[in-house]
Amino acid sequence: MERTALRPLEDALAQLLDHAKPLAGSEQVSTFDADGRVLAQELVSPLQVPPQDNSSMDGYAVRIEEIPDEGVSLPVSQRIPAGSAAQPLQPRTAARIFTGAPVPPGADAIVMQEDTEADGERVRILRVPDRGQWIRRSGEDVTQGSVVLGKGERLNPASLGLAASIGCDRLEVARRPRVALFSTGDELVMPGAVKPADMKPGAIYNSNRFFLRALLLRLGCEVSDLGIVPDRRDATVDALARAAQSHDLILTSGGVSVGEEDHIKPAVQSLGTLDLWQIAMKPGKPFAYGRVKDAHFIGLPGNPVSSFVTFLLLVRPFLLKLQGATRLAPKALRLQAHFALPRADKRREFLRARRNAEGGVELFPNQSSGVLTSAVWAEGLVDNPAGTTIARGDAVSFLPLAELLA
Ligand code: AMP
Ligand code: MG
Repeated sequence: MERTALRPLEDALAQLLDHAKPLAGSEQVSTFDADGRVLAQELVSPLQVPPQDNSSMDGYAVRIEEIPDEGVSLPVSQRIPAGSAAQPLQPRTAARIFTGAPVPPGADAIVMQEDTEADGERVRILRVPDRGQWIRRSGEDVTQGSVVLGKGERLNPASLGLAASIGCDRLEVARRPRVALFSTGDELVMPGAVKPADMKPGAIYNSNRFFLRALLLRLGCEVSDLGIVPDRRDATVDALARAAQSHDLILTSGGVSVGEEDHIKPAVQSLGTLDLWQIAMKPGKPFAYGRVKDAHFIGLPGNPVSSFVTFLLLVRPFLLKLQGATRLAPKALRLQAHFALPRADKRREFLRARRNAEGGVELFPNQSSGVLTSAVWAEGLVDNPAGTTIARGDAVSFLPLAELLA
């Protein structure tokens, strides 16, 4: 049996990303449907947002020089609701104005309604205004000609709103990566196919298929789910050959260890090329990258938490890079350990953890790579360098799952 030296995660990731050449082709989608997609164009604003100076309060537009003291009474010369055009402000008058309405030329402040007293056709100003108060300036959000969203940015609900605010109803985005997904393992049974009470000894439900599919969909992929492939060389070769035809990536879980029942390696090698990596990470370790015809191949370990974590740390950035994304990793937070890890591991560990109300971070008690409960409980992963013990109170690096799952 061959033995490979453990490879640091950074090296494995760098090498993997080297293979992730951005996919050719982009597509136009409605801005409504662009959430989560990667922008394939630079979005330059053709206008100012807001387009004109406008009021941020319901109140009165005035000239401050005409209100040297509180108590000044002015006739109301016009009424400007949002969506209407304003006339220039007549001297020694106030204009009734509402939130979002354009500030009339000549006015240099808004007095909020609460600081006034309406008096028939007149208004009494109860407080001396400051220049510019309650006026939102034209272009204070976006200036004409500026880049509002960069190429390679992943769109989120706020970016869709921003794109819409400059009049964009369609966006050019990277095309969706086409991913074929299958699980290997003769022990695997699909939920629904066999009732819990009828499960044979040794059988387990296929859980990886569910979270991997969901993770892929969240990353904007088109997923072909090829189901469970039995632990046989010919079946594995068949599944791979079929998957390679029309997919950018073939993603599998299980069968990448080096036991006799692990058929991924010889099967991929018979059709293309494969590197089996032993990554110095926990959970994780066995990981395979290769090519089958024109498709990338990634083999994840079978243990559910290993599969989950290696997906987040390796496959996620890979798929984002295929889509031309510029930001591939979440920002790690420094938090205080409210736990101790007295025994160092020779691999870099990703511990399932949660923040507590005291601003610290706590661990799920069982960190075994088969315990999927830990991943559901967790709000993040404590990224602990190889060979490092942690004492209560130490600063640790925390990767929020909210970002990794987005
Ligand atoms: P393997 O990598 O194939 O040696 O599998 C490692 C462990 O993960 C074994 O205990 C498998 O039963 C389990 N496993 C593999 N694939 C899955 C799956 N799709 N869902 C749940 N557990 C799995
Ligand atoms: Mg297996």
